[in-house]
Amino acid sequence: MRQLSFSSSTKNCLALLLLTAFVFISGCNTNVSQPSASDSRAENNLTIVTSFYPMYIMAKNITADVSGVELINLTGPQTGCLHDYQLTPENVKTLQKADIFIVNGAGSESFMDKVTAQQKQLKIITATKGMKLINNTGQTDPNPHVWVSIAGAIQEVKNISKHLSELDPAHAQQYEKNSAAYITKLENLRKEMHAELDKLPQRNIVSFHEAFPYFAEEFNLNIVAVVEREPGSEPSAREIAETIEIVKAAKAPALFVEPQYPSGSAKVIAKETGARVYVLDPAVTGPDDPNAYLNIMKNNLTALKEALR
Ligand SMILES: [Zn+2]
Repeated sequence: MRQLSFSSSTKNCLALLLLTAFVFISGCNTNVSQPSASDSRAENNLTIVTSFYPMYIMAKNITADVSGVELINLTGPQTGCLHDYQLTPENVKTLQKADIFIVNGAGSESFMDKVTAQQKQLKIITATKGMKLINNTGQTDPNPHVWVSIAGAIQEVKNISKHLSELDPAHAQQYEKNSAAYITKLENLRKEMHAELDKLPQRNIVSFHEAFPYFAEEFNLNIVAVVEREPGSEPSAREIAETIEIVKAAKAPALFVEPQYPSGSAKVIAKETGARVYVLDPAVTGPDDPNAYLNIMKNNLTALKEALR
């Protein structure tokens, strides 16, 4: 009896081991083998991964109702800008099952060298490819926050849609139709924002991190100072003192903080200068909603109208 029970549990163990080995081997196979035409997964599924939230919202609009597309955002909806982002093991797994990876480019995905080195077969769409970029203040590297201007977002949507159509020609018509519909909404918002913002008397703003040069250029605003020079690092006492002097000299009426960052230093500057604090959102976090970018920009319009009148 004892012998039997021992042997039965050994058998169970062996079966479990074999099963685990089988799952492991077949799991590995799925990762290394290229999808073939006979593969039902390949017939029906195109896995598109986006690097972060602004790319995800664009892709969500472009791929809306396209059958077989699985859209995954690599980083969470609350991650924000990827300036110093390090890939997690979970991110690497997600990228391993991706057919297409949509990135903003212009240096915003700090981990890209690692991705391209590890996955040479991955098709990468760079949304800012071929676009005219603004350099970071006093530096030679480009500022990546192109999507924060509506004109920039429109161009990125066009780029993504064009390259997606080339890589997945079966759905090209749908991608183009979807992106045209989304671009119409963006164009309308852009017109509305121009109509409201062009007439405001104040043009000087202080932003929180260097997220707004494209937006400022689009709406003819003047960024006189940036509170946080290095994203993610609190400004030093000396930098805060400098910013206070600049804000006073420029008579900037408002400071704009971002919902993604703590606003302690902005409050100190506001207290010293009398400038009021408003929220300006660079649209790097938000809800899983195709209209999220449009809604964020409408809120930015409300804040700017209030701050600059
Ligand atoms: Zn940023």
